[in-house]
Amino acid sequence: MYNTLTINNQSKYRVAIYIRLSKEDLDKKDESESVKNQKDLLESYVNEQGYEIVDFYIDDGYTGTNFNRPNFQRMINDLELGKANMVLTKDLSRLGRDYIETGEYVEKYFPKNRIRFVSILDGIDTASDTTNNDIAPFKAVINDMYSKDNSKKIRTALKTKQLKGLWVGGCAPLGYMPDPENRNHLVINEDEAYIVRKIFDWAKKGFTYFEIKEKLNEEKIPTASMLRRKHSNTPMANEGIWCSKTVRRMLENELYLGDMVQNRRSRVSYKVRQIQDVPKERWIVVPNTHEPLVDRKTFEFIQQRLKNCKTRPKKEIYRLFDGLLFCYDCKHRISICKPRKSDGRTYIVCNYYRMYSKQKLCTSHSYNYDKIEEGILKLLNTLFKNILEGNKLNENVEDVRRKKKTKANNKVKLENIINEIKIKNEQLDKMYLDNLSGKISDDMYIRISEKLNIEINRLEAKKRELGFITPEEQNNEEVDKECKQLIEDFLKGNVDRNIMAKLIKRIEIHQNKEFDIYFNFQKLNFLLEKYNH
Ligand SMILES: [Zn+2]
Repeated sequence: MYNTLTINNQSKYRVAIYIRLSKEDLDKKDESESVKNQKDLLESYVNEQGYEIVDFYIDDGYTGTNFNRPNFQRMINDLELGKANMVLTKDLSRLGRDYIETGEYVEKYFPKNRIRFVSILDGIDTASDTTNNDIAPFKAVINDMYSKDNSKKIRTALKTKQLKGLWVGGCAPLGYMPDPENRNHLVINEDEAYIVRKIFDWAKKGFTYFEIKEKLNEEKIPTASMLRRKHSNTPMANEGIWCSKTVRRMLENELYLGDMVQNRRSRVSYKVRQIQDVPKERWIVVPNTHEPLVDRKTFEFIQQRLKNCKTRPKKEIYRLFDGLLFCYDCKHRISICKPRKSDGRTYIVCNYYRMYSKQKLCTSHSYNYDKIEEGILKLLNTLFKNILEGNKLNENVEDVRRKKKTKANNKVKLENIINEIKIKNEQLDKMYLDNLSGKISDDMYIRISEKLNIEINRLEAKKRELGFITPEEQNNEEVDKECKQLIEDFLKGNVDRNIMAKLIKRIEIHQNKEFDIYFNFQKLNFLLEKYNH
């Protein structure tokens, strides 16, 4: 996109550092854009590279939509005088927000005047012929630093508010809305409150979560996500359907008592994209902050009653492939049910189908578990014997890929998939920050992140289908050794859940009883593919 040039024989760059802080940045109170932050970042980059700083050119409170900024003009002057031969900014928008005019500088003015331009966060470097080469590693560190820093700051600010009993969740739980006069205070939303009252009323009368969810669906009562559709542009297939989990979460939510209960769920860390339930003792509860939708006596009564019906019997029998079975069609887990009373047979079923059977979001994938287990074991047995006898782990499995006619085509596809996964992960991160800062509610965050995670799984599966093996995977003796050991153990008859979990990542079951095995060892995936052809 940008012209490149190479400046030879210039061991040292003399750097003009350009910093801009606009009024909007000040209003947003976005610390990451502060002059000090920009300065620290750019200075550390220059020091890291061993360049020399000529001057800082700081336009504080100026818009980026034009170039009539005193310090920008001063910098251009200095450039014309030859004082500096490199311009450094945090990101392109610091230089300017007008794409045409900014482009003029980056693509024409700087190259023409033999000035190197580097914008750290976008990875633009007009002096490098390969994109992002020497900035990339540094950029990653900085990005990381920034998001960590940001997430920490938002968290602290958030906690202070929560401790004061202020609502910070953005979109309120069903039945409430933020007070138009004060967004941190909740008031009853009469358009929705009837649903909450109905649910508590049914629970009081003795209906279970399951029965309540069925009644809600039968009466076509809208769900929170349907009612608040305008907040999200990513519809889900099951959006309009009530499920037991939602009902349970509502019935247990003390917020309906008029107490502010926050910090019930959080992400493991800013980097680990998984949501975890926060233990009850760490919830932030401030009593009597808003009008209740249920009285304490009823609430207590319901909790007592529900306690008895929610204790599920612990699973007694674990089967060999427990936890490894997934649905090929919807990518959700496949459960192994308890043996049938009538004939003692064990069946498997797609979880997603089971949860939403009436809505037909997937098909049953219901088969006799023992038959499936037998089939998988038979395949593994022949495959492993074949591998061990032919000493195939030492074989160059690259050959398999070379034989694929569509190799080049696959490479492009693969790159697209990897890129898509990256984008989805970035969306997850962005949403996390939005959730922390209260732009989106916990419920919505959880719903959308679940959806994104399913899409990521789908993409990961596609990635595997394309069969890609890295040189490290090809030539890793230690991994081969471990793999061989596991295969030998298996063939010796040491077949248990532990060895299965070490060997197998997931087994996807098709509606027609076929199955795909994905190993934890990429080489095995290749050899399986070769074996199947
Ligand atoms: Zn399914």
